[in-house]
Amino acid sequence: MQLLKTILSDTLHLLYPHICTGCGSDLLDEDNLLCLRCITDLPSTQFAKHANNPIEKIFWGRIPIVAAHSEFYFAKESLIQHLVHQLKYKGNQEIGIYLGALMGKSLLDSNRFRMIDYLVPLPLYPDKERKRGFNQAAVICNGMSHIMNVPVLTGNITRDRFTETQTKKHRRERWENVADSFIVTDKAQLQGKNVLLVDDVITTGATFEACGQAMLDAAEIKLHIAALAVATR
Ligand SMILES: [Zn+2]
Repeated sequence: MQLLKTILSDTLHLLYPHICTGCGSDLLDEDNLLCLRCITDLPSTQFAKHANNPIEKIFWGRIPIVAAHSEFYFAKESLIQHLVHQLKYKGNQEIGIYLGALMGKSLLDSNRFRMIDYLVPLPLYPDKERKRGFNQAAVICNGMSHIMNVPVLTGNITRDRFTETQTKKHRRERWENVADSFIVTDKAQLQGKNVLLVDDVITTGATFEACGQAMLDAAEIKLHIAALAVATR
């Protein structure tokens, strides 16, 4: 039976080579997506455990947050850029779940993200999500959810572009490059909750800020932020 299993596994391996999503090497365990070398090469930040880390500093003087984290450094032409590209543009949701699980483990290991009630994926514009077929932030949340045992909250917060009249009304904000509007549908659901807002990549933090502010305006929440990778400029 074991022999048959081995033969079957070897045959399947030939037919459908199981290769590393990072480098294409076939030297990896059957149930893993990355080879050992790529796993070792992932540029972890270790921010989760540290108060006043660079992600938290992004939001100083902008919105009140309890804690923030980014799991990896994002550099151009890097392994992590390749993996995020696989997720967003090649529809490889499996790698998003995998990386989300890695981030979930870091957050669990830190005692600064223990009380989270909801994981909230930063919403995409509805037309963009329709086109892509999924929201990459929600995929990452699903990977985190398994590890952290915290539910993913989708649908309560929606994202829209300002209409023309709104654009006029919000001219100043637009000038500050905040062209997003986020709408919270069920405010009561968020009331008093520890919320972890999640996205794939953080750069200036403007989108996190806009979405976080909409939630803070809607309900008394304790806002936490997590991005899979931080792009330093
Ligand atoms: Zn590899």
